[in-house]
Amino acid sequence: MPRRSDDEEKWQMMREKIIGLGEKSIRKSYYPELRQKIIELEKANRELALEVIERQRGEEEIKRNYEIQTIINSLLKLSLQDISLAELFSITIDSILSLRWLSHQGKAFIFLVEDAPEVLVLKAGTGLPEQLPDHCATVPFGQCLCGLAASTGEIQFADHDDERHTLRYENMQPHGHYAVPILLDNRTIGLICIFLPAGHKRDASEEEFLVSIAHTLAGIIQRKLMAQEKSRLAEELRQAAKMEAIGTLAGGIAHDFNNILTAIFGFTELARMDLPQPEKVEKNLNAIYRCTLRAKELVKQILTFSRRSAQQKEPLQLSLLIKECLKLLRSTIPATIEIRQDIRSTARSLADPTQIHQIIMNLCTNAYHAMRQSGGVLTLALEDVEMSAEDAGLSGISPGPYIRLSVSDTGTGMGKETLSKIFEPYFTTKEIGEGTGLGLALVHGIVQGHNGHIMVASEPGKGTVFHVFLPRLHRASAASATLLEDTEAERGHEHILIVDDEQNIIRIAREILEDSGYQVSAHRTGAGALEQFQQQPEKFDLLITDMAMPGMSGVDLARQVMELKPSMPVILCSGHSDMVNRDQALAMGIRAYVAKPYFMSEMLRTIRTVLNRRNHT
Ligand code: ADP
Ligand code: MG
Repeated sequence: MPRRSDDEEKWQMMREKIIGLGEKSIRKSYYPELRQKIIELEKANRELALEVIERQRGEEEIKRNYEIQTIINSLLKLSLQDISLAELFSITIDSILSLRWLSHQGKAFIFLVEDAPEVLVLKAGTGLPEQLPDHCATVPFGQCLCGLAASTGEIQFADHDDERHTLRYENMQPHGHYAVPILLDNRTIGLICIFLPAGHKRDASEEEFLVSIAHTLAGIIQRKLMAQEKSRLAEELRQAAKMEAIGTLAGGIAHDFNNILTAIFGFTELARMDLPQPEKVEKNLNAIYRCTLRAKELVKQILTFSRRSAQQKEPLQLSLLIKECLKLLRSTIPATIEIRQDIRSTARSLADPTQIHQIIMNLCTNAYHAMRQSGGVLTLALEDVEMSAEDAGLSGISPGPYIRLSVSDTGTGMGKETLSKIFEPYFTTKEIGEGTGLGLALVHGIVQGHNGHIMVASEPGKGTVFHVFLPRLHRASAASATLLEDTEAERGHEHILIVDDEQNIIRIAREILEDSGYQVSAHRTGAGALEQFQQQPEKFDLLITDMAMPGMSGVDLARQVMELKPSMPVILCSGHSDMVNRDQALAMGIRAYVAKPYFMSEMLRTIRTVLNRRNHT
């Protein structure tokens, strides 16, 4: 080592110089001490130089570790966001390739093992050769470097594209690889592959780094897959709950419909036999009419239930909704269970009818299930309650006016253990196929969405009561329009012009209107009606017209009639419950819009409303 001897020569010279000096000016006895000191100094100096190098190395290591930690942290943080695995992989690759101390060719990609077992599926890549995505889109386990790494669960390193690199493509440039499996419980669930410059030396710290990234990704993938699976299961269960509810409902309704049909058959038969005695016929026909009313109610209930629109709150009189539910419950719950009602409130709450319907049906279904073996009493109660600040403190309910809906049963009841879990989604004590555990979770969600509260009291062997508190609106007022009960038909004497292309409707309408005291002129076309109207506009008090008719439409007819006589009230009927039609009609001055099919009682009421309003103005 020439350098060393250089140094040594220098030291030697220095020593001699010092010794020379010493010999001249210092006593001879100092010499050995001095020599010793110099040797020590020399040694310390060498150690210092080594330490500097060591420290530099350490600093680099710290910097590297810091970079690695930063990458891992940012990946973990990203994984908590709503980001797809493919996106996350892309970011991972970019982070890896951004490191200066890692040798790579600016190319890397990540695979995921997908549904089909033993196959790697390309999920993300950067800087990939043009043909690669075609060749490596899916790589079976065992094939090429990546497949080998996947099947063995061990890193495959190659300093050039050797015989293991079985997937080859045109214009493949010389290169090496790190193929690092992503392992979860010793199972390969994905793979990271990096392109290396040909001839690159295998480096333990590079491998260590790639393995730590693979570990991180394994955790993230597992979490994401579990979340996906969970939401898939939740969706499946929700669907199952819906189907179950519809199934129960359909069974009950089919049963009810059959009863109604049987009654209609029966009364029709009777009417036929009674033809010579008109008063008997009338009685039977009235009975048939009542049957059709019931059928109409049922259809309305099915529609209420199956409507899955976004939440639509309206001032809702809960007592009327409960009555609808009671009808439905009677037809679905067996006779061994008595159903009682105790309705003391006619107040309204700002609520979505479909959702409140769901609350009631869910609570009642649970109550029914709890009494299935033994029979018992199901009670639906409704009451206005005031929550004072004091009560509120005790119960956790904010003070104010509420309507309290209570569903109680005399069934099995629940122990503390069960009670503490009932609102959890998927908690059920029922057999598979019987319960989904979603009913009360749904109820809880709806109640919260209405700023309400739910409370439950239960005793094993005795029964259960659920109280639902919904905020009460000030002043109870008339029933919601959609839930009006049929009232006595109203009579009148005015002259009505009615137009409908359907012969039967004209016939029935004419008879009923005339029975109610009105004068009627009926037409099957708009043109015919218009012609008669033009002759004596002052003779008519009201036009009732169908919307869709061949030739002139109801809207056209209405427009022309109102042009001739602006004060003429018009009622438009349509079989398409199309909101645009309705709004357009009302905007152009049509007084009322009646959706088909309508009952004549409904029509008579609308007629009266329209005509009375005209008389007042
Ligand atoms: P599911 O009815 O599908 O089981 P729910 O969320 O409606 O799901 O109810 C969860 C659980 O709460 C039920 O499995 C049952 O154990 C219990 N539960 C609910 N209501 C009652 C009740 N009225 N009486 C006894 N247990 C009940
Ligand atoms: Mg339930």
